[in-house]
Amino acid sequence: MERPNAWTTYDAGALEALEAISEKYRSYLDYGKTERECVSETVAMAKSKGYVDLEDAILAGKPLHAGDKVFVNCMGKAVMLFYLGKQSLENGINIVGAHIDSPRIDIKQNPFYEKTDLAYADTHYYGGIKKYQWVARALALHGVVVKKNGTSVPIVIGEDEGDPVVGISDLLIHLAHDQMGKKASEVIGGEDLDIILCGQPLKDVEKEPVLAMLLKILKEKYGIEEEDMLSAEIEAVPAGKTRDFGLDRSMLLGYGHDDRVCAYASVEAILSMTEAPEYTCCCLLADKEEIGSVGATGMQAHYFENAMAELLALTAPAYSELILRRALKNSRMLSCDVSAGFDPLYASAFEKKNAALMGHGVCYNKFTGSRGKSGSNDANPEFIARLRKIMEDNKVTWQTAELGKVDVGGGGTIAYICALYGMEVIDSGVPVLSMHAPEEIINKADLYEAVKAYAAFMKDAAPQAK
Ligand code: MN
Ligand code: MN
Repeated sequence: MERPNAWTTYDAGALEALEAISEKYRSYLDYGKTERECVSETVAMAKSKGYVDLEDAILAGKPLHAGDKVFVNCMGKAVMLFYLGKQSLENGINIVGAHIDSPRIDIKQNPFYEKTDLAYADTHYYGGIKKYQWVARALALHGVVVKKNGTSVPIVIGEDEGDPVVGISDLLIHLAHDQMGKKASEVIGGEDLDIILCGQPLKDVEKEPVLAMLLKILKEKYGIEEEDMLSAEIEAVPAGKTRDFGLDRSMLLGYGHDDRVCAYASVEAILSMTEAPEYTCCCLLADKEEIGSVGATGMQAHYFENAMAELLALTAPAYSELILRRALKNSRMLSCDVSAGFDPLYASAFEKKNAALMGHGVCYNKFTGSRGKSGSNDANPEFIARLRKIMEDNKVTWQTAELGKVDVGGGGTIAYICALYGMEVIDSGVPVLSMHAPEEIINKADLYEAVKAYAAFMKDAAPQAK
């Protein structure tokens, strides 16, 4: 059973639409290098399409109707967009959900120190990374410093052409005999990922003059004291912009495709809907997926359920616990997360006929997990059959895949968490090469097909016929 390469199906109009979406995605990705930046960008895009803050609707006590659009901003780190449909929420809604956190290197709370005329920031990495990939490359700093008086200072250093960048040094090859003999997992230790910030002593300072230079710059440029780092969230991420990849410009190389490519495709799909849908549609962008969907902004928190309860309170029939349970149970969801693209250089890690091929369209993973599907959501064939029809009706190029060979490894997504409500869920995403590396690769055709797939799903998904 073979699936076609999506590029072979495009006419001139499709190629133009594909390029337009790639360009919009490129700027979303270049701006959104942290979950907070993705939320603020998504909210700005939603507002420009007429979405209003659900908090404002609640305060106004204004009933909501089909065609109304609301967003929920969850602590600035997760966000949901709802486009209200003609059917009651009780009949379930159509959800596309992705995550907007990506692997990175976080600055510690007490980070700064000086050693041998260099000032450093101590770090703790976030998510699954090959640590050796993050040294000897340009890094940018993104985040917020919240001062004791509550003011939040946004930080973005290393993205503008004229900005300085920072980074982590590696041992020169000439002296690396012992290092090169180590296992890849031990070449760079977690505590060795410290970032060089300054290399010039402040004049007339005797004790730690380079650290004094760093603190002077933070004070002068950002009004930040060293103590303010106690209430900061600064993420070191690869500096620079997303690039066309390949001589034919068919791919994109950039930081954070996992999972901002699916996040963007979900946002694009819901914002491109021009008339009130039959069933309410939701685009849900979660935080903390890379570390287990934990915390108040991770998918295990109850913000989605709470938002549904609030929506029920503003629509008919009015809120009741029972109606809420039915609304959740009757919903349908695409858990939109990237999949491992088949890599011919590492073919032995994959079982090719069940691998996601680059350029072969949006990918559906019936299950994820590892070692006998452990930790996986395993989508129902009844649901997959309905999806096959939706994809074919809407001329989407799609494929099915699993993450690598049996027993080679595995991974998880937010799918199993939403499935706890009893709704139908399946993983669906874009194949990625070099996943979790500082720069990952996607194929533009797969992004384009994901946008088509998510739009088709929100338009056409419906409850299982009785
Ligand atoms: Mn992911
Ligand atoms: Mn990931």
